[in-house]
Amino acid sequence: MIILKIGGSILTNKDSTESEIDAVSLKRIASEIKSSLDNSYKELIIVHGAGSFGHPPAKKYKIGEAFDKSEYPEKRIGFCEIQNAVKKLNMLICEAFIEEGLPVVAIPASSFMTANDKRIVEGNLDNFRKYLHKGFIPIIYGDVVLDDELEFCVISGDQLIQYLAKNLNPDMVVLGTDVDGVYNKNPKTHDDAIFFDKFSSLKDLDTLEGTTNVDVTGGMVGKIKELLYLADLGIESKIINAEVEDNIFKVLENEEVKGTVISRGN
Ligand code: ADP
Repeated sequence: MIILKIGGSILTNKDSTESEIDAVSLKRIASEIKSSLDNSYKELIIVHGAGSFGHPPAKKYKIGEAFDKSEYPEKRIGFCEIQNAVKKLNMLICEAFIEEGLPVVAIPASSFMTANDKRIVEGNLDNFRKYLHKGFIPIIYGDVVLDDELEFCVISGDQLIQYLAKNLNPDMVVLGTDVDGVYNKNPKTHDDAIFFDKFSSLKDLDTLEGTTNVDVTGGMVGKIKELLYLADLGIESKIINAEVEDNIFKVLENEEVKGTVISRGN
């Protein structure tokens, strides 16, 4: 089984405060996945980020921060707004995938997962197994969920990757984003950033700079933290650039693709 994450940075215009889909990237990625599955059948789970659909409302309503009881109705409607926004993004993604002939089925985190202090504590994955068994491609995405401690929180696509990989024992975990992998500092703002083929400790980062101005779930650093947790369990993952044409196809075909492998080994 392969768990593939497609970053919000690829599918949406993430710097925008508007909900904008990147239809060209979406179609290309859908067709790369289809070509690989046509080559040989693979069990596949897709995770996608919330990008410019989820982050602006999550920031506006400060979901995931402690709040006064009197603010509950406003927070609750904020939760609804975010849930609906990311559902819209997911619908557009599913539409493009189905058009390509990919049998995707959405399983939203808000419908079956709960968290405690922003970490998933419950989420029965039997449905994932059943859909996979029937040849579907389950899709899950960055979403809001109920939180025992904070009432509501945002769950990033990266935390979902971690949870799924920990519980489903995949053969491959791949994250497609808009840079080649991990550098010692943000390559978008530093021309002299140094690229890592392998990454095993947060200490190797010069700065803990996040990502875009709207990301509420930690950007590259948040991603790496989730993946290092997987590495501790002996599960290796790879971050690649999904903006480079054919990278997703190649990685699904087990071909060599530039990227950063996150593992605790050498
Ligand atoms: P996605 O939405 O694809 O999951 P994010 O936007 O959350 O991805 O994270 C990717 C972004 O992280 C890159 O566009 C890059 O600008 C930023 N970034 C910050 N620090 C680093 C770093 N040390 N190495 C690579 N990218 C970094």
